[in-house]
Amino acid sequence: MDQDQDQRYDVLIVGGGIAGSVAAWTFSREGLSVALIDERDFAAPFFRAERISSLAIADLRDLGLGELIDEVALPLETTAVIKGGKVQRITHEVDYSVPLWQLVNRTRESLKENPLVDFISDVVASVKTGPEGQTVLLKKGQRELCGKLLVVATGASTAFLKNIGVAREIISKNHSSTFGFDLIPGPDFKLPASSVTIRICREGADYMNVFPTPEGNYRANLFTYWNASDAVQKEFVKGDSTALLKRLSPSLMNTTGSWTVGDTLECGAVSVMKSTGYEQPGFVLIGDAYGRICPCCGRGINKVIRDVLTLQKMVPDWIADDVALTPEVLASYYHDDTREAYEEWVYTQSLTLRERIVESTPKQVLRRIIYHHLPPKLQDFYWKHLGSRKQVPIAP
Ligand SMILES: Cc1cc2nc3c(=O)[nH]c(=O)nc-3n(C[C@H](O)[C@H](O)[C@H](O)COP(=O)(O)OP(=O)(O)OC[C@H]3O[C@@H](n4cnc5c(N)ncnc54)[C@H](O)[C@@H]3O)c2cc1C
Repeated sequence: MDQDQDQRYDVLIVGGGIAGSVAAWTFSREGLSVALIDERDFAAPFFRAERISSLAIADLRDLGLGELIDEVALPLETTAVIKGGKVQRITHEVDYSVPLWQLVNRTRESLKENPLVDFISDVVASVKTGPEGQTVLLKKGQRELCGKLLVVATGASTAFLKNIGVAREIISKNHSSTFGFDLIPGPDFKLPASSVTIRICREGADYMNVFPTPEGNYRANLFTYWNASDAVQKEFVKGDSTALLKRLSPSLMNTTGSWTVGDTLECGAVSVMKSTGYEQPGFVLIGDAYGRICPCCGRGINKVIRDVLTLQKMVPDWIADDVALTPEVLASYYHDDTREAYEEWVYTQSLTLRERIVESTPKQVLRRIIYHHLPPKLQDFYWKHLGSRKQVPIAP
């Protein structure tokens, strides 16, 4: 699209992370013109999702992104789930190892070649929204862009949301810390499957994923409910990280052989939250701009894609029929049955998983004793006949 001649688009998207980029890709496949605006031309390396679930990848493939995924991601054919130094089971869902920023950049590159999409590297200085049309003023470019719908995909940052009168409700403050680090294999290192999930479930540490990267190294993601003021987090970050992990899980290396934690620890601290005050005309929030869940449930990308799939069902009709985008019309996106059920599931999951690891109520303490000390058959009997192991509903 020639920007100088026509500055009106069907959809304006602010934020070109995974949510904004996949939305731009999807709308352009529906024949809609899109302006995708991000502060940065190139997404610099950042620590986020490094392993994407098979379900999310399947949805991305359905959206036509399969070729891009195969260029940058490494399939992990099998995952061994390890508890107490023993392989409990091997799963065959094919997750993918890929740093998210690489997938975002590859998607952006391909969008730059798409005649229906203008990728604009700029900061939005001001916004006007309403049922009939939206206008954003670009700071560097000093020009206005107009569109029928504004999609806000600015992630967890609140700066842009303030411009449009959207606030954040914190559901669980300092909920979790996720760590990413290179894993340095020892001479006897060997994974029992393409990747492993090691259950720790002690002192606020939930589990750790270890997997190869597309570059041929090994990465680990450690999911914890620590925060910066916890002694255990300080010990992990400032002390001997490998020794601390061995203390938490003495049989940690039984099934993998020896390894040590590499020099650079990356940490993502998350509060679980949701936006409020978005019931306004003209714009919708997607991905982390709508709300942030806990990385421990490994479903952040699925949630992003669920939002995009929901919009895919309605936006082409809104544009074709020139529907006034009133809060009532946009409510059909937020209250779409599948989207709402998924949202409820991921938020419940975020809170429930934490309770199981950190809460000191009799129920959760008993649960942990059973988990660590009963043999598997007795555990199964307990959960089936005596325990109230209420699972959160299966994700739709
Ligand atoms: C530590 C950590 C680990 C995680 N691990 C996993 C995992 O293993 N699996 C999983 O599925 N999910 C995981 N997640 C969740 C997942 O990474 C996020 O849900 C996902 O990245 C959200 O994507 P997004 O596009 O909504 O936001 P972001 O990725 O934050 O993208 C927002 C974009 O908006 C741009 N932007 C912001 N403000 C403006 C502005 N004013 N103007 C223009 N552009 C702007 C930014 O430059 C950025 O490109 C993890 C999250 C964290 C924090």
